[in-house]
Amino acid sequence: MFRKILIANRGEIACRVMRTARRLGVRTVAVHSEADAGAQHVLQADEAVLIGPPPPRESYLKGDAIIAAALASGAEAIHPGYGFLSENAAFAEAVAEAGLIFIGPPAAAIRAMGSKSEAKALMEKAGVPLVPGYHGAAQDEALLAREAARIGYPVLIKASAGGGGKGMRVVETAADFGAQLAGARREAKGAFGDDRVLVEKYLTRPRHIEVQVFGDGQGDCVYLFERDCSLQRRHQKVIEEAPAPGMTAERRRAMGEAAVAAAKAIGYQGAGTVEFIAEGEDFYFMEMNTRLQVEHPVTELITGQDLVEWQLLVASGRPLPLKQEQLRIHGHAVEARLYAEDPRKDFLPATGRLLHLSLPEGLPDLRVDSGVVEGDEISVHYDPMIAKVIAWDEERRGALARLAAALEGSAVVGSTTNLEFLARLLRHPDFVAGAVDTGFIGRHRAALVPPAAPADDTTLALAALAVLGDRAAEARAAAARSGDPYSPWHSTDGWRLNLDTRVELVFLEGERRAPVTVRYGAGHYRLALPGGSLTASAVRPDAARIEATLGERRLKARVVRDGRLLWVLGPQGLVRLELEDPHGGEALDAGAGGRLVAPMPGKVIAVSVAEGQDVAKGALLMILEAMKMEHSIVAPAEGRVTAVRYAPGDLVKEGAELISFEAKEGK
Ligand code: ADP
Ligand code: ADP
Ligand code: MG
Repeated sequence: MFRKILIANRGEIACRVMRTARRLGVRTVAVHSEADAGAQHVLQADEAVLIGPPPPRESYLKGDAIIAAALASGAEAIHPGYGFLSENAAFAEAVAEAGLIFIGPPAAAIRAMGSKSEAKALMEKAGVPLVPGYHGAAQDEALLAREAARIGYPVLIKASAGGGGKGMRVVETAADFGAQLAGARREAKGAFGDDRVLVEKYLTRPRHIEVQVFGDGQGDCVYLFERDCSLQRRHQKVIEEAPAPGMTAERRRAMGEAAVAAAKAIGYQGAGTVEFIAEGEDFYFMEMNTRLQVEHPVTELITGQDLVEWQLLVASGRPLPLKQEQLRIHGHAVEARLYAEDPRKDFLPATGRLLHLSLPEGLPDLRVDSGVVEGDEISVHYDPMIAKVIAWDEERRGALARLAAALEGSAVVGSTTNLEFLARLLRHPDFVAGAVDTGFIGRHRAALVPPAAPADDTTLALAALAVLGDRAAEARAAAARSGDPYSPWHSTDGWRLNLDTRVELVFLEGERRAPVTVRYGAGHYRLALPGGSLTASAVRPDAARIEATLGERRLKARVVRDGRLLWVLGPQGLVRLELEDPHGGEALDAGAGGRLVAPMPGKVIAVSVAEGQDVAKGALLMILEAMKMEHSIVAPAEGRVTAVRYAPGDLVKEGAELISFEAKEGK
């Protein structure tokens, strides 16, 4: 076994690899960007090396800097995690040339599976079934369009070099083919520096079922059963489970053996995943990921194995710890990926500082893999995953319920997340019944992403009490500083010589203004809320907690404040409010009105309108690239473009006005 390894990654996966290394007595070296100097993976490692500025290209993707850090620190091997350099054959080779061990498959195996097109050609030869499609080398548009027509619409265009759902476009009709191809190529070029594509038949109600395989250097290769990852948005997984619901023993064996055949065809070593798309009784090879997968914990929980330990054993030249016939499935496991993203904005990634974070802790049969703590920043530079929460139980329903309850008891403040969405998904009766396919989220969107309910009186009362508590604390602090604590000018109970025994607080929520009028009484407040009046009092044991009495009701809640922004975590769930500035300052959340703003920081890659141009509702105005994905800015109504603020190539900040727009009267 190794004595010291370097982990060429960040976030939860770097922390997870370190956990196993620590258990096995292997010392760890972290690498980090300037943005991550205080990150968990740096704090948890035995040592850490700064490798560059925040953008991945200048840090986590700099193979030479990482190899130099490994050599300088005396590490014997490099674990690449997932993403970043994990599937980069040139990096694997450079690691070997430096006399270090790459904890992953041989470079040739990575290369063989690196292009989805070439991988499909290879699998075809090995007799593994493929989705009908075109994966040839010729790439001219006319030929691709002809192939699409031959395959039959709808088709799916995929970046050959793709990953993470990027560079992928569904095309419904021949008329859309050209535009979608251009989009897929642009996104592929931006994300992978390679714009080659393949075209496949788009299956409308398939399941994503993948098989975990493991090979060693002594000719053995086993499968550790399957995972069902059908619950996806933007062609990316959000919930994964093992085993797959409804899987029969025969089918499991057939898929497992096909996956092992695929791995053996390329001399595979280490952990890998063969992804299949399944429809009815059929299953087709989709791609092979030559690394540890994000969702590997569900496999660990049902097999009782530590896959990172297996990786370290195999990389250090040992045989696989178990033979195929020794592997067993025990119970059921399900994982949810908690992301900073906005389900109401088509799951657009979100950013922000985690002002409050509570994840389940110490619950039986529940695992949390996370790389962040309260106070950390979810930045635009990296993947917006906050944590993976994984539950195990003897049977599927128990695992789903355990995970749903754990998520319902969690809270994230400071960035929009998919937390509530995940809990709803896990409680959805059709999902609980096992009726899953990759279109599930799209079909059930209305139920899974209901419109936000306006803040109710309890929420408003809690927000008001928090603000009043903060003001009282400030007044007390000012009085203590002034040297005359008894001055009535510093009174904190509203008895200010009858000057302001009545205060009006106004909370803003989108377009809504909710006034709360407060009158001070002896030891309590009288609150006039939109739905009526009540007597209230509260204590704030710390900056986030509040214990309130509202009329006859006593409750504990959290109110997190960041200046004029408040997040109330109470009986209504998480509600975000803005306190109106009594001095008339502009609202922070000013309704976008006629302004079309950047939903997140990014780069303008195309502008399709000119100033003065009349456009129809939904017309494409601009394409923005952020987090390596394209986001279309479209006309919110029929109207006229009055100004175009940026040109292709410009970088824009979140909230920057991109285009001014005037809606046509009455539209
Ligand atoms: P990535 O490299 O981004 O993971 P994949 O080829 O694995 O790309 O596809 C991602 C997801 O897109 C799959 O999990 C599946 O849900 C969906 N998908 C891929 N191919 C098809 C297809 N031919 N028909 C329908 N859905 C597909
Ligand atoms: P999986 O099937 O395991 O989800 P994906 O191909 O979707 O695999 O990507 C694995 C993970 O790595 C995803 O969370 C993705 O967002 C992340 N990822 C991929 N490429 C990068 C990258 N260059 N930098 C940071 N994260 C990345
Ligand atoms: Mg995939």
